[in-house]
Amino acid sequence: PTALLWFRRDLRLSDHPALLAAVEAAGDGGAVLPVFVVDPRLWEPSGRPRRQFLRECLADLREQTGGALVIRSGDPARVLPDLVRETGAGSVHVSADAGVYGRERDAAVERALGGVPLVRTGSPYGVTPGRLLKDDGTPFRVYSPFARAWRARGVHAPAERPGDVRWAEGLPAGDLPPAQDLGGTVLPPAGERAGLDAWAQFRDQRLLGYATSRNTPGTDGTSRLSAHLKYGTVHPRTLYAEAEQLAGDHADAVDKFVGELVWRDFYADVLWHRPETAREPFTPQMRAMRYDTGPEADEHFAAWAEGRTGYPIVDAGMRQLHGEAYVHNRVRMIVASFLVKDLHIDWRRGARYFFDHLVDGDLASNQHGWQWVAGTGTDPSPYYRVFNPTRQGQQFDPDGAYVRRWVPELRDVPDRSVHEPWTLPGGPPEGYPAPVVDHAEERQVALARYQEVRGA
Ligand code: FAD
Repeated sequence: PTALLWFRRDLRLSDHPALLAAVEAAGDGGAVLPVFVVDPRLWEPSGRPRRQFLRECLADLREQTGGALVIRSGDPARVLPDLVRETGAGSVHVSADAGVYGRERDAAVERALGGVPLVRTGSPYGVTPGRLLKDDGTPFRVYSPFARAWRARGVHAPAERPGDVRWAEGLPAGDLPPAQDLGGTVLPPAGERAGLDAWAQFRDQRLLGYATSRNTPGTDGTSRLSAHLKYGTVHPRTLYAEAEQLAGDHADAVDKFVGELVWRDFYADVLWHRPETAREPFTPQMRAMRYDTGPEADEHFAAWAEGRTGYPIVDAGMRQLHGEAYVHNRVRMIVASFLVKDLHIDWRRGARYFFDHLVDGDLASNQHGWQWVAGTGTDPSPYYRVFNPTRQGQQFDPDGAYVRRWVPELRDVPDRSVHEPWTLPGGPPEGYPAPVVDHAEERQVALARYQEVRGA
């Protein structure tokens, strides 16, 4: 029989358990029909960088399947039963989706398929969200114990890439989704082959320095694999398995790197148990937090979004967001803290902006990354953590390499002033703004507001 393989966030052929399940279901005489459905409910709210990246991943997947990938648009609960009828497929195979919308959609598809099973094999995570629980049977709320349980459980070995897959033929292929105008934004190469190349380069050249270099945004110290992990062109299992082989003398770097991949699993797990935290504070008490709105807040928000707050590391971060649809992790924390704690703007507004502009925009990692910084999330000691943007810049970008790369107005400022150009004798250089707010004052305002909520 024909087995239908419905690709979603798993746009690869290596280490793909659902592909193996489809091959097995098709059996000796059968074929696998590879399908991608462009679902308007996911496509429309995606920003242009993610749409373009997805389009390029699909182009690569089409090539790797020898042109067999069938692309359709519409509601999967209608498209898939139609394809099943057209091909007589006996089963539909997927990698399980743990997302808020994905779970509902899959349940609807399952109902619409009637007697044809929707078979879930594997998921985009090391440990499928919802599987790990505390000893008392409740979900984890804090990262470290989750990470301990995750490591104790261990992760499956990568799945073999099947040799020759017999792909089903004969259906109209359908067009790739439309190319997007990105202005000047430059995206990383997309698709499985680019993802595996990026991983191999990081593994061989940079992984061993990761424990120290991951925090310096002016160097190329991290893997830059987040968009690949988001679209599943590479599975994290492949990364753990190969990284662990290098552990030996470099256990620290490997441990740190795997620990970051565990954060990804952790946030997906938190969102699985508490889907409302995509929109609401994880800590219910924090619903009472006061944020600024109105014309002044709108002006502040625009200054933040456009990278003209007068705080160099913040502006560099937001300009990196527009330049590469990506921001270094350390700087994501700094710019998020600045929006919430210096400008007193609701984290959800910043999260939305990130989500629209990031090529790796992922609901679980993004919303919970923001909540962690905003003090509404899973960080157990959050409210007094207010990042000082000047000191963060001095500590993590000591020679100003990152700032100079993204803020050309500051290119010629000496190192000692590059994170506080307002201290230069003539003030900030031509074209670069004075700080929009005074950090020391706003820090006090933020702490007072947190105190109000905590006291309540
Ligand atoms: P590396 O340092 O090489 O890490 C390897 C992988 O581990 C990453 O690709 C990512 O999949 C995972 N990872 C690393 N750090 C984290 C983390 N803190 N939380 C969850 N997973 C992590 N990550 C996203 O993938 N999508 C988002 O939308 C997103 N939004 C964020 C928003 C804020 C406010 C913050 C503070 C963090 C956010 N992150 C998000 C997490 C992190 O910043 C990025 O995953 C990381 O910068 C990606 O770069 P990299 O691939 O070089 O990471």
